[in-house]
Amino acid sequence: MTDTLNVTGEFAPAETISISAPEAISSETISTEAVHAEAEAVVEQPEAPNGFVLLGLAPQLVQAVKDLGYTQPTTVQQKTIPLALPNDNADAKAGFIDLMVSSQTGSGKTAAFLLPVLHTLLKQQAEAEAKERAEFEAAVADAEAKGEPAPKRPKRKDPTNTRNFKAPTPGALIVCPTRELAQQVAHDAIDLVQHCRGLRVANVVGGMPYQLQIAKLQNADLVVATPGRLLDLQRSMQIKLDQVQFLVVDEADRMLDLGFSDDLAEINQLTIDRKQTMMFSATFAPRIQQLATRVMRQPQRVQIDSPQEKHSNIRQILHWADNAQHKRRLLDHLLRDTTINQAIIFASTQIECDGLANDLQQEGFSAVALHGALSQGLRNRRLMALRQGQVQFLVATDVAARGIDVPTITHVFNFGLPMKSEDYTHRIGRTGRAGRDGLAVTLAEFRDKRKIYDIEAYTRQQFTAEVIPGMEPTQRVEQRGGRDFDRKGGGGKFGGGGGGRGNSFGGGGKFGGGGGGRFEGQGRFEGRSEGRFEGRSEPRFDDRKPQSFEPRQNNFDARQGGPRGNFGEGAPRGGGQNFGQPSGPRSFEDRAPARGPRAPFEAGRTPFDKAPRPAGKSFGSFDAKKRAPKPRTPR
Ligand code: AMP
Repeated sequence: MTDTLNVTGEFAPAETISISAPEAISSETISTEAVHAEAEAVVEQPEAPNGFVLLGLAPQLVQAVKDLGYTQPTTVQQKTIPLALPNDNADAKAGFIDLMVSSQTGSGKTAAFLLPVLHTLLKQQAEAEAKERAEFEAAVADAEAKGEPAPKRPKRKDPTNTRNFKAPTPGALIVCPTRELAQQVAHDAIDLVQHCRGLRVANVVGGMPYQLQIAKLQNADLVVATPGRLLDLQRSMQIKLDQVQFLVVDEADRMLDLGFSDDLAEINQLTIDRKQTMMFSATFAPRIQQLATRVMRQPQRVQIDSPQEKHSNIRQILHWADNAQHKRRLLDHLLRDTTINQAIIFASTQIECDGLANDLQQEGFSAVALHGALSQGLRNRRLMALRQGQVQFLVATDVAARGIDVPTITHVFNFGLPMKSEDYTHRIGRTGRAGRDGLAVTLAEFRDKRKIYDIEAYTRQQFTAEVIPGMEPTQRVEQRGGRDFDRKGGGGKFGGGGGGRGNSFGGGGKFGGGGGGRFEGQGRFEGRSEGRFEGRSEPRFDDRKPQSFEPRQNNFDARQGGPRGNFGEGAPRGGGQNFGQPSGPRSFEDRAPARGPRAPFEAGRTPFDKAPRPAGKSFGSFDAKKRAPKPRTPR
């Protein structure tokens, strides 16, 4: 890529951007092909001006977004980038203003903060290089005038040699609540700097080996980090934060949920001389505003949308289930939908997540679990497998509710409901990425109706309840506010040709909130970062009859699958129960991976090599037609 920075360190004006792609050729430079085209009276429409160029971004960044296939800035980018760039505003400190942006996941918010920060870092780098060059040239001229030999340029020291270690002093810091999100943001940043010579991005997250991370941190200009490991490295002098000029707090609401308030206060102090702070959050709830008052100076607000306006490209449906067994059968049926390319199935707890993933593997689904109790290496490999299309179903806790950006995810299933209503929004935002459509299916037991109402109140959208013919619940959902939350009847997407029946929940007793002894014996367990675990006393999944379908061709190798945990096999949960991970290898990745290339869907035997993400974000995809499900008799 041509470096279009001129020697004075200024960016070339937008008009003179040299972009190699043919579309960038200006209308003045008419090619011979164009003349021929004119001769054939083919009138070409002028291309809409590139919104990223109009925003005044550096040509290297414009080229990078073009490579990524972004044609125009999204709303959040359009609104945020001009404010985040150096500003002549009187309120601005050192030319920058603080920003508080409420924008949903999937809106393009990552690029909204990365692009202006990278732009300024690039500009500063160019200015510093120009200054250094001018000083060197002056020194050479001086030496020549004195008749002395010209000075030599200082030798570049090998940064990987420990003798040359110098604690990195990044100019920009982005803090994220989860490792997955931090990795995704770092990934996006690396994509955006691919044409920026000398601009280094580093990722600092817990669970990764220290030495490697420290080595990769050398000379980092932009660091994307989770707070814990960042402060760890700072305290051991492996990184200095006093040169940070730009601080971005991503998913600030989640940061507070996860108890990072003190860490944020510390990061605030360590970077107190910064020029700009940007905070991104799903909402401007009072606690977020309090945080903003602590860490920002007269921030300007940018409100993009509300929870009610978002996700218009994601169809959201609900299936009521009589009980856990019924819910499990519904899921089993729904997962056989051939339109599913890849999906995330959310579980409420780590234990439910492991149990469900194991069950699905046993049934022949290409499924893996992802939650906070797994080692970071394993989490990374499993995410990579999802990205590369080697695995179809990711069974996850809310650790995956944010930050996972895999365009081939067509469906999200809420098997276990989220603890907080706003997490519902984040969960379903894992599908319908990059302008595609998605389907979010929520499975709820009648006893979960309050959580469903809370979600509806939060999103201000009413669920469309659907039924699968032959698998209808026997109970009815109770009336709420004079309205029956019923349901459009059968004939849903997954209905398999059933007719649409109005109140098809009939035939059972009305849901009366009692639930009898079903709530007895609940244990409460403070989970890891995923939040609270509500143990249930009733056996789960224990009514499964032998499967009436053939195992899939991609069935997991039972020997690699390892013994299944004994959770949810009928043992009551509650006081004194050990909720630790089942001992011994639980899943295939815990063992030595097999070697050699494998076909997609063979996740059970996939080495999950640390292969780089395919260029251009083109992820492997599943051929849904290849695996038409067996007709299934509803039980
Ligand atoms: P985010 O909200 O940052 O998680 O981004 C959601 C998705 O939108 C990611 O897949 C981005 O790669 C993609 N994206 C970001 N900006 C644009 C854009 N201007 N045009 C098209 N896609 C974009």
